[in-house]
Amino acid sequence: MIKVIQIATLSDNYSYIIIDAVSKLTACIDPSVSGTIVNFLEKNCLTLNYIINTHHHNDHVGGNLELKKKYNCKIIGNFKDQERIPEIDIKLKDNEIFKLGESEFKVIDTPGHTIGHVCYYFSEDKVLFSGDTLFSLGCGRLFEGSAIQMVESLKKLRLLPGETKIYCGHEYTQSNANFAIHLSPKNNKLKEKVIKIEKTRKKKLSTIPSLIEEEVLLNPFMNFDNVNYIKEIGLENVNDYENFKKIRVMKDEF
Ligand SMILES: [Zn+2]
Repeated sequence: MIKVIQIATLSDNYSYIIIDAVSKLTACIDPSVSGTIVNFLEKNCLTLNYIINTHHHNDHVGGNLELKKKYNCKIIGNFKDQERIPEIDIKLKDNEIFKLGESEFKVIDTPGHTIGHVCYYFSEDKVLFSGDTLFSLGCGRLFEGSAIQMVESLKKLRLLPGETKIYCGHEYTQSNANFAIHLSPKNNKLKEKVIKIEKTRKKKLSTIPSLIEEEVLLNPFMNFDNVNYIKEIGLENVNDYENFKKIRVMKDEF
């Protein structure tokens, strides 16, 4: 079992500290910066054993070098992105299992936002670190990958148990919610979620984690193959990839 602590960094990033309950081994997922992470670790008398990166963007690996220097921790990332993850030590492949003390996680290849993007899934805890692939009510922009790759990546994440908690890389929920409700103004479940999000953000609190079952139901980018939904939002149903592409363009222009 792991304990997950969210740390807000930069303007809207989330880094996460995870602690294995038995061994107390500690890892940081996507340290955007080092200072905020060091402050937290020192305040809580923790050291850092691992850094785990979802992808190479600077707002996810920016703290790698300084944290490694300070704690001599090992850096974990996708072997396909070994040239771009600063100071990587442990290069994992799709479906590979890694043990963090008594806890373990699986690597899920999720290209789309970047070519080398991966998500990390702790099956016992039902916890997913989704980086910039899946957000609450949104998904990452296609900076390097294709719509086909992103659709296949999202399909993999849809297969996770509904109660899986999604810890993503950014607090983009409010703007994603504005887009989702614009597309689907009559969806009562979505309306309820939007009200909850607005209340949470008014208090400047985090809307994360979200749940897979909610995303499957309410996230526009998870509904590329839902024919009724595609019609409802005014698109012609072509195929998964074309549908996804059009929703992505609509969001980018929203
Ligand atoms: Zn990114």
